[in-house]
Amino acid sequence: MEFCDKYHCADCCLEPKVPLLNEDIDRIIMHGFYDAYFVDEDQGIKTVRQRDDGTCVFYNKLSGLCEVYPSRPERCKLNPYTICKDNLEPEVDRACKHCNQCNKDPVSEKRMSEYLVTLEKEIEWRRRTGHF
Ligand code: SF4
Ligand code: SF4
Repeated sequence: MEFCDKYHCADCCLEPKVPLLNEDIDRIIMHGFYDAYFVDEDQGIKTVRQRDDGTCVFYNKLSGLCEVYPSRPERCKLNPYTICKDNLEPEVDRACKHCNQCNKDPVSEKRMSEYLVTLEKEIEWRRRTGHF
């Protein structure tokens, strides 16, 4: 999220829907958090837990910073890239208030595509095996 760092913006941490890859979970556990603290799961889709007010469980409301920043989920690192709901292609998130300063980035697009493939494979495997 170097882009977000640059603008000192954490808006996407206030009400995030952040899917977790297995490697994200392993990395955050190594960072010092139990998975029972931060992982929510619904029908094979694992996401970062949100507090009752919608904020990410890792968002520090006092500092405005992410408590697992070096180990944050890949999805957070990919901001402000998202997936277009119409054609399911990677694109800059137009809801990002700084996206007008973000050029199209083929490297981020490729990373987002690879991320999606991995995520879909993991979700499919969990649903098929019932192994959550
Ligand atoms: S993990 Fe960190 S960067 Fe990602 S939404 Fe939560 S607080 Fe924000
Ligand atoms: S993607 Fe945009 S709106 Fe979201 S935290 Fe980063 S700079 Fe802020």
